[in-house]
Amino acid sequence: MFEVSVEQTFAAGHALRNYKGGCEDVHGHNFRVRVTVEGEQLDATGLLVDFLELKSSIDGAIAYLDHKFINDLPPFDKINPSAENLAKYFYDRVSEGVKPGVPVRISEVCVWETDTSSAAYRPKYSALV
Ligand SMILES: [Zn+2]
Repeated sequence: MFEVSVEQTFAAGHALRNYKGGCEDVHGHNFRVRVTVEGEQLDATGLLVDFLELKSSIDGAIAYLDHKFINDLPPFDKINPSAENLAKYFYDRVSEGVKPGVPVRISEVCVWETDTSSAAYRPKYSALV
C-alpha cells in the first residue's frame, strides 16, 4: 500500500459549546491539517496522487475557514467546531475534490489545534475510488 500525505495550515477562531473550561470562550488557533491518501497502484508517472492536486483540494476547504470565526459557518453553527468535527469536515470536502487517475481512498485526516494536541478522523471502511 502506498501512502501520500500533505499538510496545510490556517488561522481561525472558535469557541466550544457545552464545554466547561477555557475552550468555552472565544479563542484562536493556528490549525494544522494533514490529509493522508492510500492506494495500491501508481499511475504511469509513478504517482499515487499529485501533491499539488491534493493540496488544491484542501485549499478550498481551508479558504472557507481561514481567518474566520468558525462557529458562524455551517455546519459549525450547529455542530461544535472541535478538532474532531473539523477533521470530518476536511474528510468530506477533500473526498469530493480528489479525482486521481488510480484508485485511492483518504485513510486519515488529522487536525492539530496546537503542536501537542490533535484529533484524527478515519473512515471505518471505504472502498478505493
Ligand atoms: Zn480551541
